[in-house]
Amino acid sequence: MKLANCIVTPEKLIKNREVSVISEFLKSGAELDFGNSYAYAPLINSHDHLIGNWYPKAGNGKHYTNSDIWVEEMKKSDSFLERSNIWPPDGKFNLTEGNAYILTTLGVYKSIFSGCNAIQDHIKNQNDDYYESFPINVIKDYRQVHTMTMGNWWGGKSAKEEWMSAENKMPFILHLGEGIDENADSGFPMLLKSGLLKSNTLIIHGIILSTPEFRKISEAGASICWCPDSNMFLIGKTLDVEKALAENVNIVLGTDSTLSGSANIFDELKCARKLYPKLDAKEIYKMISTNASKALYLDSSYGNLVSDKIKNLLILKNNNENPFENVIESETHDVQFLMHQGKPVYGDIDYFEKFNLDESDYYFFRLGKTEKFVVGHPEKLTQKIDEILGFHKVLPFIPFT
Ligand SMILES: [Zn+2]
Repeated sequence: MKLANCIVTPEKLIKNREVSVISEFLKSGAELDFGNSYAYAPLINSHDHLIGNWYPKAGNGKHYTNSDIWVEEMKKSDSFLERSNIWPPDGKFNLTEGNAYILTTLGVYKSIFSGCNAIQDHIKNQNDDYYESFPINVIKDYRQVHTMTMGNWWGGKSAKEEWMSAENKMPFILHLGEGIDENADSGFPMLLKSGLLKSNTLIIHGIILSTPEFRKISEAGASICWCPDSNMFLIGKTLDVEKALAENVNIVLGTDSTLSGSANIFDELKCARKLYPKLDAKEIYKMISTNASKALYLDSSYGNLVSDKIKNLLILKNNNENPFENVIESETHDVQFLMHQGKPVYGDIDYFEKFNLDESDYYFFRLGKTEKFVVGHPEKLTQKIDEILGFHKVLPFIPFT
């Protein structure tokens, strides 16, 4: 198969590249032709809370000086209380129980409809069944603490124990510096004092951090996940990306849940671009590809198309001559094809027909003039929500009604 515009890595674009699609489902002799569309590695969403993908955002429109205050207020918000009809929180956060799968699976679709094949779901570690239940990679290997200031209130061990059990083989993830006051400022010294700023540390947010701290993070080889939409909603201020990049910090991008963040990674990219209009689009693209693969300890098949044998693939409509601006400008309907581990996940019906797939395993719907397919049955999940609530609930990350 020939890819007219193949983004191999953020540094390398090859025109008319010959590759092989490795898929047990591809019909023999079938020719895949993506025209002059762009081929990318599927995108990586480095921060979400799948169980928290409810809408509208929880808050009363004011900004908070730190997110610990929001976490408490959020639990009393109308949106949170409405979501509790679907999944009443019992404080255990066991996401394989009850109706949690409705919310977590729809949360995964949020990323599928924006071209992702990997998500970091920040929550206490779940059992293997949870991670195996999704059609794309909800990353299993990680350790975490909610924050240094609040600890693991949602379950899990102490920060130190969690980091120790990561054994430097997987990321250690925590929210830090999500605010502008003393409380937010106390997280980084606590992290240093505990000896937990290491190469596998992935700091979420870092709004309050400044150059000397970015330098320490860079020297440690640690990473920061930027969630601009969530930051602007909750705090009214975001990570100083230019200063962090000047210190060569490995920066990745995440949506956070829709209780505070954007509708999907495409919206997050647009928010990033709006806040930093002069930031090189290639730098932004790195945050959802190679930088993310590094921070999340993913294998070499993620975040690049280096291999000629392709199992993971994202095809986006060619709307802009700059391939990196093209990703930022993309919307759900621009995803023409998304494949994960050789299995078509989402895209235009024309490509579905090139594969031997069981139609009953897929849902088909129209977006504008195009018939789309998506793996699984998200429509059954939205129906279930409507049954429970007794009215039609609109979720902004689900493209069909
Ligand atoms: Zn978060």
